[in-house]
Amino acid sequence: MLQGSSWVLSMAFLIIPACLANGLRQCVCDGPGCTNITCQGRKCFVAIDNTDGFTRQTKGCFSIHLMEQCFSSIAGMVVTKCCDSDMCNSNLTIPQNDPEQPMTKNQLQLILIPVLVVFLILLLVALYFCKVKWHYRQRLLTRLNELGETDMLKASIVGDSTLGDLLDDYCTTGSGSGLPFLVQRTVARQITLVECVGKGRYGEVWRGIWQGENVAVKIFSSRDEQSWFRETEIYNTVLLRHENILGFIASDMTSRNSSTQLWLITHYHENGSLYEYLQRTTVDPEGSLLLALSIICGLVHLHVEIFGTQGKPAIAHRDLKSRNILVKKNKQCCIADLGLAVMHSQTSDYLDIGNNPRVGTKRYMAPEVLDETIRTDSFESYKHTDVWAFGLVLWEIARRTVVNGMVEEYKPPFYDVVPSDPSFEDMKKVVCIDQQRPRIPNNWHSDTILSTLAKIMKECWYQSPSARLTALRIKKTLNKLNSPGDNFKQC
Ligand code: ADP
Ligand code: MG
Repeated sequence: MLQGSSWVLSMAFLIIPACLANGLRQCVCDGPGCTNITCQGRKCFVAIDNTDGFTRQTKGCFSIHLMEQCFSSIAGMVVTKCCDSDMCNSNLTIPQNDPEQPMTKNQLQLILIPVLVVFLILLLVALYFCKVKWHYRQRLLTRLNELGETDMLKASIVGDSTLGDLLDDYCTTGSGSGLPFLVQRTVARQITLVECVGKGRYGEVWRGIWQGENVAVKIFSSRDEQSWFRETEIYNTVLLRHENILGFIASDMTSRNSSTQLWLITHYHENGSLYEYLQRTTVDPEGSLLLALSIICGLVHLHVEIFGTQGKPAIAHRDLKSRNILVKKNKQCCIADLGLAVMHSQTSDYLDIGNNPRVGTKRYMAPEVLDETIRTDSFESYKHTDVWAFGLVLWEIARRTVVNGMVEEYKPPFYDVVPSDPSFEDMKKVVCIDQQRPRIPNNWHSDTILSTLAKIMKECWYQSPSARLTALRIKKTLNKLNSPGDNFKQC
C-alpha cells in the first residue's frame, strides 16, 4: 500500500509535466517525479504523504485524468489541496490537523476499528447483564407464582429458599428494603407458632418456625397498633440491615374472630433480651465491652443519616432499654423495637415523629422528658435521650461484669430509689429534682475497660442534653479499647 501510494504520486509528477495543452497552469514542482522546479497541469497541488509514517509535503501539478485527486487522497494516505492559477501552490500549505483536510481511509480505519471494538464489547456486556437480569426475574416470577398459587392463604413452600436466601435476593436488588408485601404475607401465614418467649407491655413474643427455621413473632395487642404501624413502616421504607439492629423478616395484619391481629416477624435470638441475659449471666470485662460496643454500633447506625441510593434517614429510637436489646449467639447485641422511633432527613429537613400515643419506658426517661422541657421539634433532642438511656444500659452491663472476682447482682437502673413500676412523678423527683444518678462502685476503677465504661456513662447522664456524648463519640472511645484481634471487628 505504501509502495502503491508512492507509485501513484510519482506517476502524477511524471505525467503532468508532459501535458502542454491550453489552459494549463505553471506550478511549483518539488516531488519525487519532478524533473524541473516547475511543472504544467490543469491544477497545481500541494500534498501530504504520510504513508510511511513520516509526513512530507510535496508540490506539483495534476493532469485532467487525476483531477479528482483534488477532492480526496491518493492511494489513501496522501491528502492534497489544489488551486488553479499559475504558481498558486508556491504558498499553498496544508496545516497539520487541517479541519478541511479530508480524512484518509487509513486514518478512518484507525479510529473506526477501536470504536467498533469498544462498541461490540459494550454490546456483549449489556447483553450479558440483560440475560442475568432476565434469569433473575424469571426466578422471582416463579417464586411469586408459587406464592400466588396458594391464594396467599394456604400454606405453601417458597421454593426451597432459606430465609437468608429470600432476604438476600430481595434486599440486594430492587428497592432493597425487604421482602415485597405479598411475600411477607405468605411467609407470615406459613409460620407455626411454637412457644411464647416473652410478654411485653403491649403484646407477646413467640418463637415460630418457618420452613424449619426459628423466627420471632411479635403479636401486638390492638391497643398498640401504632407501634406495629410504625415499626412496619420503618422496616419497609428504610434499608436497616445491620448486624446490630434486629433483622426484619415480615409484617402481617389479619382479621381473626372479628379482631385485628398484627404480627411482626423478625430473626429469633435464643439468648433473649439483654435484660434476661444479664439476670442469668455474668461477663468478663472483654465480654462487657463486646456487648457495649455492639449496642453503640447499632445506635450509631440508627442515628446517622446516610445519603445516596442505599441511604437512610437518621433515626432516634426513643425506647432504648435492656429489654429492647437482644443478645445474639455470638454475644453481640442487636437493637429491637422501633415502634416509637422518629426519623429525620437533613436533605428535606423533615422530622417524622409518627403518630404513636405510646411514650418511652419511664425508668429510662431522660430528665428533659420527665420535666417536659425537651424540644420536641428538634431531632437532636431525641438522639440525646437515646444516649441517656444507653448510659443506663451500660450501667446494667457493668454491674454484671466480674472485676477482681467481684460482681453485683442484676438490678434495673434506679432500683434503689424508685418502686418496681415507677410512676412519671417518681422518676421526675429522682432524676430532675434530686438529680440522682446510678451509683458507680469503686472497684470498677481498677479495670481499664470498666473505668472507661464508668466515665462514658457519667457523660451520658449530664442534665443538659447537649453536654452528653454523642453515640459516635462513644463508639470511637470503645473502638479504641477494643484491641485489634478481639472477636468484634470494629464498626
Ligand atoms: P417490651 O415491650 O418489654 O419491650 P417486647 O414485646 O419487645 O418487650 O419483647 C418481650 C420479650 O420477648 C423480650 O424481652 C424478649 O425476651 C423476647 N423477644 C423479643 N424479641 C425477640 C427475638 N427476636 N428473639 C427472641 N426473643 C425475643
Ligand atoms: Mg419492646
